[in-house]
Amino acid sequence: MKSKSLTLKILVGMLAGSALGVIFNWINIDQDALLQVLLVDGLFDIGGKVFIASLKLLVVPLVFVSLACGASNLADGASMGRLGGKTVFLYLITTGIAITLALLVAVIVEPGVGFNLAKETTFIARETPSLKQVIIDIVPTNPIRSMSEGKMLQVILFAILVGIAIGKCGEAGQRVRGFLNDWNEVIMRLVLMLMNVAPYGVFCLMVTLFAKMGFEAFGNLLVYFFSVAFVLLLHFIGTFSMLLSILGRIKPLHFYQRMYPVMLYAFSTASSNATIPVTLEAVEHRLGVKNEIASFTVPLGATINMDGTAIMQGVATVFIAQAYNIDISLIGYLTVIATATLASIGTAGVPGVGLITLALVLEQVGLPVEGIALIIGVDRLLDMLRTAVNVTGDAVVSTLVAKSEGKFEQRVFDAAGETYHDSHKDQGC
Ligand code: ASP
Repeated sequence: MKSKSLTLKILVGMLAGSALGVIFNWINIDQDALLQVLLVDGLFDIGGKVFIASLKLLVVPLVFVSLACGASNLADGASMGRLGGKTVFLYLITTGIAITLALLVAVIVEPGVGFNLAKETTFIARETPSLKQVIIDIVPTNPIRSMSEGKMLQVILFAILVGIAIGKCGEAGQRVRGFLNDWNEVIMRLVLMLMNVAPYGVFCLMVTLFAKMGFEAFGNLLVYFFSVAFVLLLHFIGTFSMLLSILGRIKPLHFYQRMYPVMLYAFSTASSNATIPVTLEAVEHRLGVKNEIASFTVPLGATINMDGTAIMQGVATVFIAQAYNIDISLIGYLTVIATATLASIGTAGVPGVGLITLALVLEQVGLPVEGIALIIGVDRLLDMLRTAVNVTGDAVVSTLVAKSEGKFEQRVFDAAGETYHDSHKDQGC
């Protein structure tokens, strides 16, 4: 009941915030300096930012503690290697499917044909890291700095190494594991505490977003917007349901019901990273994935798996090519599939990052990077939608891996939905 009413409250907060934001935009609140400063840039902006900051504050400690605990249970290198291989393989495959769907739909719908380019085209692309650098950067030279800078792949690697060492340390290892286990409980409790203020945080985020954005931005980008939204939905309902029912033998509808609050978080924050605490909580305690799997797959997924982002990049590439009347050959399309899949590995789960890596994809197929300026106007809303897909994809893979490793608790999955607060008693790390 509590969980249901919390989800409902978040939904109400979201809708009410969007409505108020649209009203603010409609009455041109930005013309009134005082109201703008007090409400949109003041109260609501502070509320939204504090909410996101409070989610982020949990990410590094939670990932480290939870993953070190989990890895200590899988101490032997072989299971860790098998788990890693399976997870990364599934992440890459799902992203590959996502971008292929996006290209197919975009080629059929032709969102960019006849597009009027007489708009501002002044997007300056930020530099994207090369794949070589991404690989080198996975190994931290100073784990404390990695934590303070929020470099997730480095934190993940360090936590796994510590976990494996704990598992190999006999009695001393047991003591450290007990200590980390207690910390895990404490941090999870913090997650639950913060979830209770989510409806207000989400409300504030929506007010500021819609007050600033309104609906004018859409105009002639409607076809692009709906093409992306359609493929996101297709992947979300089609690919994920198929994987869950065929590979996982899980009823997709039940899965979505349990993941619903997490999707709302992802949607409102537009950040897979900031959503990690909530995803981890739900994957373990609502889906029934054991900690040793979830603590590895969820943070890794939030860092490297971005199906929704790849979908946006696929449609955007075709859109820009058509808008500029440039023909991408079959090789071009294959390059887009490969580059967008790899690009998602090197990009962090924060708002707007998909547009930066889109530059990398465009460059690979020789399209003008300034084309990004054409779609910036509607990207914020698409970012929210695709983040929900990104995060759901992480949970799908997590569940499939857990099932295949015999680390899925049907009992928890069946019982989930009763309450957020008590469903994870006596499930240590
Ligand atoms: N905001 C997305 C995420 O955090 C990434 C992106 O596509 O910009 O997953």
